[in-house]
Amino acid sequence: MYRKRKINERLDSFYSLRFPFHALAKSKHRYETVVGIGGNVGDVRRRFERLFVVLQKDKRVSLVKTSLILKNPPFGYKNQDDFFNSILVLKTSMQPKVFLCYLLRLEKKFGRRRSFANAPRTLDLDIIFFDNRKINTKDLIVPHPFYAQRESVVIPLAGVGI
Ligand code: AMP
Repeated sequence: MYRKRKINERLDSFYSLRFPFHALAKSKHRYETVVGIGGNVGDVRRRFERLFVVLQKDKRVSLVKTSLILKNPPFGYKNQDDFFNSILVLKTSMQPKVFLCYLLRLEKKFGRRRSFANAPRTLDLDIIFFDNRKINTKDLIVPHPFYAQRESVVIPLAGVGI
C-alpha cells in the first residue's frame, strides 16, 4: 500500500511502511554508507520492498534509514519508462570494494541485465557515500560522481537528512 503525493508535473513521491523508515536499534557495524537504488522495469516498488526484507535479514549490513520513493522521468536514453528511486542508509563493516561486490551480487539476484548505458533496468544500486571517504579507482568512485546533478538522488537524500 502506497500513499502518492505529486511533487510537480514530472515528479511523484510514494510512501509505504518501509519507505521511508528509521531504525530504532543502534548498529555495531563500523561504516555508514548511503546507497542509491533505482529501476524502471516491472514492479520496481515491490522489488524495493523485497530488497528491504533481504537487507534486514542480512547480518553483514544494518538498515539505518530509507527515504521516500521518487518517480521521475528517465535521463539519457529517453524512450523508456519512468524510474523509481530511493535512498538506503546502511551500516556495514565491509570495506568499500567488498561492499560494491556485495551490491553487484544483489543486483544480479534481483535480475539485473546489463545492456547499454542508461538502459532500462530492474535494479540499480550505487554507492553515493561511504563514510566520508574519497575513493577514485577504476571500479569505484565515491562520492558518486553524478549524484549532485540527479534529482533522483538529491530529492530522496534531502528527506533522510544528509
Ligand atoms: P551502472 O550500474 O551502469 O551505474 O555501473 C555500475 C559500475 O559502475 C560498477 O560495476 C562499478 O564498477 C562502477 N562504479 C563506479 N563508482 C561506483 C559507485 N560509487 N557505486 C556503484 N558503482 C560504481
